[in-house]
Amino acid sequence: MQPSYDIALLQIATHPYLSSLGLVVNTRLKTLCCEWCQVTVPHDRVKGHFKSDSHKNTPVRLDHKKLEDAMVAMNVTETHPPPPITTLDQQAPLPFKGLKLLQGFACTLCSQTGLSDSYMKDHYSREHHTNITSSLLTQCFVQRYTVGHVGSLRALFRVQPPAENSIQPGMSVVDMVKEQMAVALQTPHLRNQTDQRCISPWLLTTKWREHVKGHDVKELCNLVAFPTKTEYPGLSAAVQQYFAEATEEMDSLQELTLQNLNTADPIKT
Ligand SMILES: [Zn+2]
Ligand SMILES: [Zn+2]
Repeated sequence: MQPSYDIALLQIATHPYLSSLGLVVNTRLKTLCCEWCQVTVPHDRVKGHFKSDSHKNTPVRLDHKKLEDAMVAMNVTETHPPPPITTLDQQAPLPFKGLKLLQGFACTLCSQTGLSDSYMKDHYSREHHTNITSSLLTQCFVQRYTVGHVGSLRALFRVQPPAENSIQPGMSVVDMVKEQMAVALQTPHLRNQTDQRCISPWLLTTKWREHVKGHDVKELCNLVAFPTKTEYPGLSAAVQQYFAEATEEMDSLQELTLQNLNTADPIKT
């Protein structure tokens, strides 16, 4: 089991506030990734990302201070590394977790990659004046940082095939985190060598991965999204009234009940 316990499995770190937004941190890229879109979200594009089409049904209200603090705590850098473009005779990087893994093709004559055989045939013909048949194209796994912005961050790059127990195309972030947990718990002696935040204590305590198992994560996120201004009129007043009433009851509560209320995890005490 040892060889697979490498950085490929320990790239994703979570932070409670970022998780509440559906963001994780790829510790290798030191950048945020959106777990729904499986793309990187550069430091200065978080707001813009949540305004994109893919989030139009799940509006996100950002707390800029909390976001900034979380990014500092998680060592997210302001700059984004360039895509690691390689030719076929150079070693491609391991797949980046948090980014969609795609099946593509690599040019044997330069570092170009593409997602369709028609694109690659065009490339050979245009750049190398060579006609090539589909069967001669070299298949490979590719990733890209993002599809949302123009510029180098959109560029496809070749990555190594995923390790057997690593990310598969279509695998959700919840599955990835569960896998990280499984490996981390199997080999506790190695945990000191890793970033402890990768195995989020928050995740351990809340057991969210168990609660969300078998459910559509996007749907769950929709269910707990902030209501819009017009939804649930009176909800805020009702909750505040409930709190006020509960607070008034405090004086008449028994000592043991008060202690329970003041305990972080009363079930365990
Ligand atoms: Zn997204
Ligand atoms: Zn080429």
